[in-house]
Amino acid sequence: EPDLASGLTKTRHTWTERWNRFMANFRQVDEDFFDDLEETLISADVGAQTAVQLTDELRDEVKLKNAKGQAEVSQIIMDKLIALYQAQGVTEDTDMHFAKQGPTVILLVGVNGVGKTTTIGKLSARYRAEGKKVLLAAADTFRAGATEQLVAWGERNQIPVVTGKAKSDPASVVYDGVETAIDQGVDVLFVDTAGRLQNNVNLMQELAKMKRIISRSLPGQPSEVLLVLDATTGQNALQQARLFKDSTDVTGIVLTKLDGTAKGGIILPIRNELHLPVKWVGVGEQVSDLQPFDADAFVKGLFG
Ligand code: GDP
Repeated sequence: EPDLASGLTKTRHTWTERWNRFMANFRQVDEDFFDDLEETLISADVGAQTAVQLTDELRDEVKLKNAKGQAEVSQIIMDKLIALYQAQGVTEDTDMHFAKQGPTVILLVGVNGVGKTTTIGKLSARYRAEGKKVLLAAADTFRAGATEQLVAWGERNQIPVVTGKAKSDPASVVYDGVETAIDQGVDVLFVDTAGRLQNNVNLMQELAKMKRIISRSLPGQPSEVLLVLDATTGQNALQQARLFKDSTDVTGIVLTKLDGTAKGGIILPIRNELHLPVKWVGVGEQVSDLQPFDADAFVKGLFG
């Protein structure tokens, strides 16, 4: 198993550095202290709303416990942060949901370049290794090369791919995918979708149409609509999450490229402000570099 902690090296490094600097400046627990704390959290990409909320809660707790010393205060803050990260792990919705009967459909959505195709490659390989019969549908007919990229992943893992012509109606690819999945007794069908944002109204309509087509043939499907977010884009990722959440019923988040960023703090506002569970995290480009989100491992990777 690859090491989540190593994927979090950059985040941990920055986080520890900021934290140490913050604590080195410790004089006393006053308003300046909480202002600095809030700033430290915001700079770690925890997001303004969550940083303010967290600081308020900490202020209350510090008062309640009448904590004055640096070690005592620092412990309270650590505990609070860990509890917030872990709050993600206790919700049962971090699990993937599968159809009781017939094919499970998993739709991947997100803007271009965030790692949708790569995530499908990694996830499909994982499920195939578990003995599931997997099929891919290349419903991003818009971006040049998107289909070829998915086909390449399919070939690498011996997984068939349903494709359509360039610029053809993505809904027809989805339809073909669903029919093939039913005919061939497929367990899991992954649908790759377009991620152009120049016209996001059209894109959201296209995603809605795909979902209608899927549920018409397979009631209750798709089981999962996974929104893929690139952790290196920090607060932009949060903006994208708001956009997709408002227009599509997102069931969970895949947070990619955690290995390439010091912005791992983004996980907090995703959960705290958007109430979306992070289900998977990407820490590299290999198949094994996609891991189920595990709050304990994440916290240990961050503070350990
Ligand atoms: P899509 O446009 O959303 O389908 O994005 P792609 O799957 O084509 O990914 C864009 C780039 O990000 C590719 O070069 C991937 O190899 C890379 N990538 C995806 N996930 C990860 C990850 O977890 N870590 C790193 N370092 N790179 C990733």
